[in-house]
Amino acid sequence: METIIQIQNVAKTFMTKDNQVEALKGISLDINKGDIYGIIGMSGAGKSTLVRCLNFLERPTKGTILIEKQDLSQLTEKQLRKVRTNIAMIFQHFNLLMQRNVLDNVCFPMEIAGISRHDARKRATELLEIVGLEEKAKSYPSQLSGGQKQRVAIARALANNPGILLCDEATSALDPATTKSILKLLQDINQQYGITIVIITHEMAVVREICSHVAILDNGGLAEHGTVEEIFFNPKSTAAKELIFMEEGKFTGEEINSNVE
Ligand code: ADP
Repeated sequence: METIIQIQNVAKTFMTKDNQVEALKGISLDINKGDIYGIIGMSGAGKSTLVRCLNFLERPTKGTILIEKQDLSQLTEKQLRKVRTNIAMIFQHFNLLMQRNVLDNVCFPMEIAGISRHDARKRATELLEIVGLEEKAKSYPSQLSGGQKQRVAIARALANNPGILLCDEATSALDPATTKSILKLLQDINQQYGITIVIITHEMAVVREICSHVAILDNGGLAEHGTVEEIFFNPKSTAAKELIFMEEGKFTGEEINSNVE
């Protein structure tokens, strides 16, 4: 297995006006090419900070991030920009340009990369087909449902053929059925194009649905990591047990509600 992302002893401390926050406390993790890797933890565990370190939107205070064996701290700004075009990202609130229609949203990263308008439109149309939204090309984001907006964001993320897709709570604003359909789309993209996917989530159900591997963050530290099967069948850390227990509790709650109805 070829390692595509190596996180080596990464720490991040934020200095605030009157104290300091150790958001990450020495995390080490290898992510292989083609994995769908879940990073899960409670709110404040350090998930967003870790994912932002992967493309150096946030520079680690200590430790090393290697993307395809390249140490990001050793790159020039120009080299770093090139690596970043290989790492796409989608977000909880989609981050679409509200004054542009769907097609032009998908064209946007290609415009920045200097691709001609004709080629960008052709590729954007293909991408909208992949995400099942070709008939919405002329619609504006405000005219779309949450699931459709996330599909546009996914099409836009794929525009420059990234090798890695980072998903930061990408389904957290969606209802369960829409979440399932977006996760299915991500899985198809992973299988068809071999894109490595890193999913940040606070929901064990998301991990169980599509991830091959999972790392559990707890209070800035790595509580446990392994294949999803290993962690579900034999959780060792308290943090893993709590997350699994919370999900089971939710299921029981749903069952009770549906029995009452
Ligand atoms: P999560 O994504 O798991 O909810 P975060 O990575 O957002 O966690 O945050 C981890 C910790 O770091 C939290 O205590 C948060 O308040 C703190 N933190 C994150 N970003 C900053 C920042 N820019 N300045 C100060 N503290 C921060």
